[in-house]
Amino acid sequence: MQFDVAVVGGGPVGLAFTGSLSGTGLSVALIEPQPEAALAAPAFDGREIALTHRSQDIMRALGAWDRIPEGVPSPLREARVLNGGSPYALRFDTTGRPADELGKLVPNHIIRQTLFEALSARPGRTRLFTGNKAVGLETDVDGARLTLSGGEVLHVKLVIAADSRFSTLRRMAGIEEEKLDFGKSMLVARLRHTEPHHHIATEWFDYGQTVAMLPLNGNVSSVVLTLPPGEIARMKEMDGAAFGAEITRRYHSRLGPMELIGTRHTYPLVAVYARRFAGRRIALLGDAAVGMHPVTAHGFNFGLHGQDILARRIHEALAAGRDFASGHVLRGYEAEHRQATRGLYLATNATALLYTSDQLPARLLRGAALRLGNHLRPVRGAIVSRLMDHHSGSARA
Ligand SMILES: Cc1cc2nc3c(=O)[nH]c(=O)nc-3n(C[C@H](O)[C@H](O)[C@H](O)COP(=O)(O)OP(=O)(O)OC[C@H]3O[C@@H](n4cnc5c(N)ncnc54)[C@H](O)[C@@H]3O)c2cc1C
Repeated sequence: MQFDVAVVGGGPVGLAFTGSLSGTGLSVALIEPQPEAALAAPAFDGREIALTHRSQDIMRALGAWDRIPEGVPSPLREARVLNGGSPYALRFDTTGRPADELGKLVPNHIIRQTLFEALSARPGRTRLFTGNKAVGLETDVDGARLTLSGGEVLHVKLVIAADSRFSTLRRMAGIEEEKLDFGKSMLVARLRHTEPHHHIATEWFDYGQTVAMLPLNGNVSSVVLTLPPGEIARMKEMDGAAFGAEITRRYHSRLGPMELIGTRHTYPLVAVYARRFAGRRIALLGDAAVGMHPVTAHGFNFGLHGQDILARRIHEALAAGRDFASGHVLRGYEAEHRQATRGLYLATNATALLYTSDQLPARLLRGAALRLGNHLRPVRGAIVSRLMDHHSGSARA
């Protein structure tokens, strides 16, 4: 079977990129192990994604944003970072900015659902290969040969690896990665509470635990708890009422008594950065290229921006009558996306390592760094600008 592009991975980034190509006239094969019903109605997975203004613009241009049910996006007005037992907070807010929100929180399964709906509604030449994995890859100067677990063989001009931070396709393409295993796990769950959160997100680097509270609409928050894997497994299995009581205690009752109102989900904490984002007739997108530690809430935002960069470069090549999958196009994407992500990737890992270390030198540095952050207005301003930045030139806008 012949296609112009094969997108391997129907996660949020693979779906967004496939949508970005509609209108180009390119034929696209989208390969995803899950059944089509799971793409159309994905199950809740506990992740609440903080979307920057630029990401919202890209979702809008893709026709996905307006499909999000009213009342679901939850405004993020301020973010506070707390350290150990100190009440002192590093604050990120919108003072002096034109908008009154840093971004919006949207559940990951709703992002996936609306991107799939938008893709299905777009006139394009996309064929789904659900229930399929990519199991074999060969590339040469003219194209790639992709073998699927169902037995089909696809001949394409470009392969996209969007198959998660543990990407099989990246390995098959011989692209190595930097990997940082934090040796911890994350548990995410929604809880109802009695006190209002005022739409302020809190990241509390306590000694022995990290607790983030993300404000959802109503008196509901999503807890993101980081602990060693054994403790996380215990928290996931414990009785729901006991879990609510334990989170209340761990969070020092700041939001009053808390009650679990949904399922609990756990994730290993491993950050990944591919040594290359492009090879011969292949490009890496999303977590397959840059798998962020969630603490700075940038993984999907980066994935969305990266796919937009590559789509724009493909649009430009097609408009100029050039090969849309040439080394020039792919290396251009790689350079731009690397520049946009590398600094924050390294800074995020350094922050996560420093603030989860309870050794005395780290404890002293943790407090000092937080105070310094509040006083370094340009640094704080740059972070807020990054969150609030609007997008000027989406591939489809
Ligand atoms: C707890 C948590 C909180 C987060 N919070 C935020 C946040 O606030 N802001 C933010 O920007 N990001 C956040 N992230 C990160 C965000 O969830 C990811 O960056 C995003 O899901 C990456 O999308 P993706 O499509 O690249 O990969 P994935 O979502 O991992 O999807 C990969 C897809 O590929 C498929 N696949 C796997 N193997 C194969 C194969 N061999 N062949 C074909 N398909 C395959 C999978 O089934 C899946 O559908 C968070 C992550 C976690 C864990």
